[in-house]
Amino acid sequence: MDRVAHWVRPEIRALSAYHVPNASGLIKLDAMENPYRWPPEMVAQWLDTLRQAELNRYPDPGASALKDRLRKAMAVPAGADILLGNGSDEIIQMLLLALAAPGQAVVSVEPGFVMYHMIATFAGMNYVGVPLQDDFALDQSGLLAAINEHQPAIVFLAYPNNPTGNLFDASVIEGIIETAPGLVIIDEAYHAFADASFMPKVMNYDNLLVMRTVSKMGLAGLRLGLLAGSPAWLEEFDKVRLPYNINVLTQASAEFALQHADVLKAQTEQIKKDRSLLEQALQQIEGLTVYPSRANFILFRVPGGQAERVFEGLKSKGVLVKNLDKAGGVLADCLRVTVGMPEENTAFITALTQVLS
Ligand code: PMP
Repeated sequence: MDRVAHWVRPEIRALSAYHVPNASGLIKLDAMENPYRWPPEMVAQWLDTLRQAELNRYPDPGASALKDRLRKAMAVPAGADILLGNGSDEIIQMLLLALAAPGQAVVSVEPGFVMYHMIATFAGMNYVGVPLQDDFALDQSGLLAAINEHQPAIVFLAYPNNPTGNLFDASVIEGIIETAPGLVIIDEAYHAFADASFMPKVMNYDNLLVMRTVSKMGLAGLRLGLLAGSPAWLEEFDKVRLPYNINVLTQASAEFALQHADVLKAQTEQIKKDRSLLEQALQQIEGLTVYPSRANFILFRVPGGQAERVFEGLKSKGVLVKNLDKAGGVLADCLRVTVGMPEENTAFITALTQVLS
């Protein structure tokens, strides 16, 4: 008997593990990271902080000092609580672990963030992905119909959306929150670049929670995400959180980083400026369709059937982007580039121009 085939659930065997390509030696514009490090004197202060960290002890299980800082940094409204995860990926896992029951549905949009679908599958839930319109706007009637039909325990909407980069219409989202029988999670992973947020409204609805991460603010290596909203929901989700999920080094480093929020903010502002320049440069290249972005990446479409050639061509010239063509559908012929440092963006544009000429 093939024990692996016998015991591992068929839907897990059918999956491919989340693939992270090797970026060594390449300009890394594939993963929506902030390209900037900290000034040397700030790094020195950070290392001083870490010197005091007690690695022999378990972390503060409630991470209370860090939570206080995050509450302020993220403008979490009075009355709302926060729950921390080892990345917002872990928060998605906690949510679905607590809600999963036979036949329960998760609704999101396609194309959307792949982990909603993957973790729904891990949890044995029924994932329903409602297609976006051709311009990547929400299909309001399609979503409301899916919500009425499947009565989902939870709806995920990324605001701005990944991989498309656009912000959905806030009034359509509000209609979804009002219609959904269960929870609605507004995933604001890219909020630092968006100038729009549902955080101020999180206590206006009893089924809305807002999720954030520090990953795109220059702290992807720490793995820290948060969920904000009504204590009644968060108390339940806290029960499925593994004790000590936020390690000592992450707690100390994130607290330190938030004390230097001005440095993070300056990096974010630089990225927003460079996003406009990159968008303009892409628009000037013939044959591309460039989609407007409120995040730190830009989705663009190359001439039909050329995505793989362009992706490989860029890689051979030392630039790694994300090829979304394989996902098919509306993403056919699409690539996604993260906004890097100005010289990285220039290298990318030069390489792309050469590959397409
Ligand atoms: N949500 C969205 C929309 C994302 O794009 C990502 C990262 N790509 C995440 C959540 C996960 O972020 P992290 O686990 O790094 O906090």
